[in-house]
Amino acid sequence: MKRNRYENLLQVHGVIHCISERDEERPLAGSLALHTGQDIDQVRSNRREIASYFGAEVHFISALQVHGDHVHVVGKRSSRGWTEVDASLQADALVTHLPGVVLTILTADCVPLLIADPVHRAIGAVHAGWRGTQQEIVRKTVETMGRLYGTRPTDLVVGIGPAIGGCCYEVGEDVVENFTAYPQAIVAKGNGKYLLDTKQINALQLEALGVPTDQIEISPVCTACEHERFFSYRADGGTAGRFMSCIMLES
Ligand SMILES: [Zn+2]
Repeated sequence: MKRNRYENLLQVHGVIHCISERDEERPLAGSLALHTGQDIDQVRSNRREIASYFGAEVHFISALQVHGDHVHVVGKRSSRGWTEVDASLQADALVTHLPGVVLTILTADCVPLLIADPVHRAIGAVHAGWRGTQQEIVRKTVETMGRLYGTRPTDLVVGIGPAIGGCCYEVGEDVVENFTAYPQAIVAKGNGKYLLDTKQINALQLEALGVPTDQIEISPVCTACEHERFFSYRADGGTAGRFMSCIMLES
């Protein structure tokens, strides 16, 4: 299974991360989602493949993502939601300071964010669709890290994407009216249709908190344009497949 990485997070000592790609040679093209009704054993086989990159005796957290703004704090070294869906773990953001625990996010167009605090040794992973972006889930995640771990926004290193880009993410008035604070991320197409750049809005929310622009890396990949490499809910007409963004602190 091919893996993508952010250049900035690669420079952070003691943090391992990756973003999976589609892989037509794997079952279900390498999908890593247990909740979308596909064959569980095939997904588990794909999950074992990605788990092998993180070494033995590590744990994995995969929450049921519900387009909310709950930040789940991982305070125990044990896996949850990894071999089967854990319906009791509903969250769209995960944070931890525990080494050896892999935080995972599943997406197919929504924005995945991976966050590292190299100073206080803490990490976060976020799923931000337009609803999560509207609810500023990334701000709530950074604030939770600040409260728990002493994280300062100025120290953070963040990777954003791959996700559907401002080239392809067409939305109506009902969605765009939530983002009037970010005119630079909206292009009007006429007939009540707009193009929305949710990667950029998440970056703007991070900058507003004080995360330096040059510590934020935005993936240039639009999942709809590159749906042969990444799952795209829109470009694939409602795919069940999801790719995974993962991050772990090394012990
Ligand atoms: Zn595109």
